Amino acid sequence: MPDNWETIIGLEIHAQLSTESKIFCGCSTRFGAEPNENTCPVCLGLPGALPVLNRRAVELGARAALALGLHINPTSIFARKNYFYPDLPKGYQISQYDQPFSSHGELEIMTAERDAAGHPVEWGPRKITITRLHLEEDAGKNVHEGLPDTDRYSYIDLNRAGTPLAEIVTEPDFRSSWEAYDYVNHVRRVLQWVGASEADMEKGNLRCEANVSVRRVGDENFGTKVELKNLNSVRFMQRAIEFEIERQISVLESGGRLIQETRLWDDRAMETRPMRSKEEAHDYRYFPEPDLPPLVVSEELIENVRSSLPELPEARRRRFMEEYGLSFSDASQLNSERSLADYYERAANASGNPKAAANWIRSELLRELENQGLIASASPVSPEGLAELVKLIDEGRISGKQGKEVLVEMFKTGKSAVTVVSEQGMVQVSDTAEIDRLIEDVLAANSQQLESYRSGKETLFGFFVGQVMKASKGKANPKVVNEQLREKLKG
Ligand SMILES: [Zn+2]
Repeated sequence: MPDNWETIIGLEIHAQLSTESKIFCGCSTRFGAEPNENTCPVCLGLPGALPVLNRRAVELGARAALALGLHINPTSIFARKNYFYPDLPKGYQISQYDQPFSSHGELEIMTAERDAAGHPVEWGPRKITITRLHLEEDAGKNVHEGLPDTDRYSYIDLNRAGTPLAEIVTEPDFRSSWEAYDYVNHVRRVLQWVGASEADMEKGNLRCEANVSVRRVGDENFGTKVELKNLNSVRFMQRAIEFEIERQISVLESGGRLIQETRLWDDRAMETRPMRSKEEAHDYRYFPEPDLPPLVVSEELIENVRSSLPELPEARRRRFMEEYGLSFSDASQLNSERSLADYYERAANASGNPKAAANWIRSELLRELENQGLIASASPVSPEGLAELVKLIDEGRISGKQGKEVLVEMFKTGKSAVTVVSEQGMVQVSDTAEIDRLIEDVLAANSQQLESYRSGKETLFGFFVGQVMKASKGKANPKVVNEQLREKLKG
């Protein structure tokens, strides 16, 4: 981006709250039901049907709000947002407007710009202001493809109509696409962590929209903002914002004008396209929902929710760094998901070697889990089982290389480390006499290298270690090999 331009980005996230039933009726929220199976007079918008608020949606909304640092308002008001769309049978959506469920959140996220290869440059903290988190119902879905006659007809599936959503809106606080990317990932993880939402963009239960504008550095006023929709993954959102920044700057630099509009991201063409001109709030003719009383949230409910929240991911990451001496990136990776953090903590404590436990999980266990499509809590190797393996290596009974084979076998068979080691007759050779014999063979077979080494080419030391390890078929204790070899080479 040219230096004389500044980017301003605000984000809206819609997260589906993990309730069993819809927000204003008893219909199931189950994903994958037959079209229009989960509907009733309330969510079909039939005349005379009255909404009743789902208490669980309020509790989960409170979990989300508190975990994101928002204040819950003692009284909030549901409002009708009026617009017509075929998937909205009532002709309005029940949302919240000037008195939302919660507001004024200060959230600290970790963010980094990325280099050309996409690697984070330097992580640092950044404060984001969340304007509000309010409760609302989702609309249904228009189906334009996938059925035999969708070339001629569109269908409407109202299973999703009335699903509870938390809409989370930020101030225009982001200055780059990567800040927005890191924020959405942060929010997703927090929502999953506290059990408020599955926050899975692929299933559509987390959606985000970005408002993007640019202005010349030093300009006080905001530029014309464009709303981006159809961002089906966090990565697409980041790309769409990047595309949009470039597009807006090039329009303005060539003397053109931007219009306030909604644009859709096309992830095949990798570009944004105009969809419609953007509505203003007054277009929706908001007014208080007459069929629902004000939502009054007691101090007691707030306190109950607050005290039931787990340690949040950022706090836990910092504690992992302090308590277990992990690096930022290791601690972040282990806190990417709650069941993984729990797994790590149990393995770290049981093994007595938190750093080794972290390395084994990051390099070996995660790969095995990923191959099987499992999360840590479903791992066939328990944290205590992994800890036992770490101990066998720490005690010098098997080598690290053997340990990797043992873990794969444990994963496959569910057997313990000790069982696998004894069944496969694995032992690490630490016996100095046996290792000395191997060293002598290696030195004898490589007399030329030995001569070079003795005449000053000390980098050959690694070569000899490698040859000895190879001769032992990976069973020699590398520490003993190093010590003995140093001794022999002196002579
Ligand atoms: Zn219903």
